[in-house]
Amino acid sequence: MVAAVAAGAFAAAAAGQTLQTPNNSPQQRHTDVTPLANASDASASLNSGGASGVGGDAPAGSPVLLQVSHSVDASAEAQKLTESAEVTEKRLEREAEERRRAEEEAKRPKFVAPAQGVFTSGYGARWGGTHYGIDIANSIGTPIVAAADGTVIEAGPASGFGLWVRIQLDDGTIHVYGHMESFSVQVGQRVKAGEQIAIIGNRGQSTGPHLHFEVHENGQKVDPQAWLAARGVYI
Ligand SMILES: [Zn+2]
Repeated sequence: MVAAVAAGAFAAAAAGQTLQTPNNSPQQRHTDVTPLANASDASASLNSGGASGVGGDAPAGSPVLLQVSHSVDASAEAQKLTESAEVTEKRLEREAEERRRAEEEAKRPKFVAPAQGVFTSGYGARWGGTHYGIDIANSIGTPIVAAADGTVIEAGPASGFGLWVRIQLDDGTIHVYGHMESFSVQVGQRVKAGEQIAIIGNRGQSTGPHLHFEVHENGQKVDPQAWLAARGVYI
């Protein structure tokens, strides 16, 4: 029933289209004009061919028009082929680019050292308390990078840390970076391993410029050195 109605509507639409055809006649005339314009071009070309002695005895007239009509069709076909080749080429370029990106993504390190410098303090007992992270010392301004891909969940002042940045990995693990001079990320931002997030500083409870780095796994502060080593990063 619905199909019948739809078919009826289509027929009506088609009829409407047919009725409108006379309105399109200027367009039709324009199409008729085009071969004539090309005819004079081709004719000129033929004449110049004649002038240089090639096929000189072909008279300008209806054979020329026939040839022109043929050449217009060939040109339209060539245009279609060119467009089709361009579409294919663009698709192939896009696919090659996607493959390059996928290969780069596969090759790039997913875990890196959060900073370069001197390993000055490990995880564990220290000064009668517990040091819940590792310290990497270097001059103020040394880049601090994300140790893994994740999302920034905190960036700002924090007691003891001076400034801190907390980044949550997709598996829920949280990385904490402390004492930085300044940071260059904001809450909600996605970061990739190796991407700079801050620079080393000496803020908070710190006895010299260094990065303090913590790893919280399932709510527990674990040894960052061991955590990184388990992922192929040795510091
Ligand atoms: Zn520390």
